[in-house]
Amino acid sequence: MTAETVVIGGGAIGLALARDLRLRGKSVTMIERDPEGFNASCGNAGGFGVTEVLPLEMTNLLRNLPRWLLDPLGPVRVGVGHLPSMVPFMAGMAKTMRPGERARISRALSALLSRARADSLPLIESLGLRSQLHERGALWVYETLQAFRADETSRNERRALGIEMQELSAEEARALEPALGPRVVAGVMTPQWMHMDDPAEVVRRLRAQVVEQGVDVVTGEATAISGKAVLLADGRKVPFGSEVIVAAGAWSGQLARSVGDRVVLDSERGYNRTIPGADIGLTREIIFAERHFVATPMSVGLRIGGAAEFRGLTGKPDYRRSAALAELARRYFPGLETTDGTDWMGHRPATPDSLPVMGASARRGDVYYAFGHGHVGLTLAATTATLLADLVTGRAPDVDLTPYAISRFSR
Ligand SMILES: Cc1cc2nc3c(=O)[nH]c(=O)nc-3n(C[C@H](O)[C@H](O)[C@H](O)COP(=O)(O)OP(=O)(O)OC[C@H]3O[C@@H](n4cnc5c(N)ncnc54)[C@H](O)[C@@H]3O)c2cc1C
Repeated sequence: MTAETVVIGGGAIGLALARDLRLRGKSVTMIERDPEGFNASCGNAGGFGVTEVLPLEMTNLLRNLPRWLLDPLGPVRVGVGHLPSMVPFMAGMAKTMRPGERARISRALSALLSRARADSLPLIESLGLRSQLHERGALWVYETLQAFRADETSRNERRALGIEMQELSAEEARALEPALGPRVVAGVMTPQWMHMDDPAEVVRRLRAQVVEQGVDVVTGEATAISGKAVLLADGRKVPFGSEVIVAAGAWSGQLARSVGDRVVLDSERGYNRTIPGADIGLTREIIFAERHFVATPMSVGLRIGGAAEFRGLTGKPDYRRSAALAELARRYFPGLETTDGTDWMGHRPATPDSLPVMGASARRGDVYYAFGHGHVGLTLAATTATLLADLVTGRAPDVDLTPYAISRFSR
């Protein structure tokens, strides 16, 4: 039977969307090449990063690029072979430096993130995971006062968008999280941040829920959208009655291009190590401000992760990065044992302006997009599902979707 809607991709975004569309009475087929796979939505840091309202900074990337090209374990790595294909991405990032752009992007991120908690709670409750969502905030920690002071401007930018940023002395930070050692000289508490015990459990339960709802999951690799069908790599065609939604994370670019839409999307690889036995008593997520990585206490262990590696979608992970992050964490948590852990790499779907792609194709009225959520795909899964399901079912979304339109890449 031909479903009304086909959703391509079964990560947090595609699953939340399929669920929402079913709740609104649509018949849904999902195409997923690896229905039990451990995708980015499973392995991430588990943070509901509602404070992440500022775009990634081009000035920082440009200033440090020469050094990072030579340092395989620095916070950002651009593979030399990947550099040519990154030119459009960097050009897109450069556009974000135009006057007014940073403020516009921040407002657009804030429009989504400010409602993420309200949108996510019903979803998490329906999965029976309310007790695994911890509303204890996140603690940013600094190892130099210089960096703490330099971040004042961005703290104020966040405050202007309704984010609470409470400045703390080193002693106050350590009183909140006694596992932190003397390296920490200052902290910032962001009470609105939340974290999940295990994002993989969210995905597992969502997978079970959509199947229970009657979503037909087709195992296969979508290669293109043609007419009223999605073409699969093995030659099969999956027809759709009304619309198709591309929610294939970092792999969505090829599918958008198959209908003639231009998009700039790259994989920003991230790494982590999860250490089951490392109970150091952390109660909230710790963000290591200068070094751009985090530690999250989860039911599956202490997860230490971060890094941004631009080396494309293929090619082996470089797990020295997970080891390097774990080693860095030991500097902050004296006595932490980091050797017995599981290393992981995932592909963040990254756009140059840090905004997701949400809305209709610029070419066809029956193709929609929901990808490009970068560092906040878990955080925004329920919000994306609500807004896209509104759009697809003819209800005006509460948020103006113009800033997230795919047509921005053609300007
Ligand atoms: C190290 C790391 C830490 C992170 N921490 C956080 C965090 O704390 N909080 C947060 O909110 N976000 C975090 N993120 C980001 C978050 O994980 C992603 O933004 C989010 O998972 C993207 O979800 P998605 O559904 O778009 O993509 P994915 O989870 O990648 O799912 C895409 C799915 O589409 C399938 N697919 C792809 N192409 C095809 C095709 N052609 N045909 C069929 N199927 C296809 C894939 O198999 C995959 O299952 C982190 C990411 C990383 C890497």
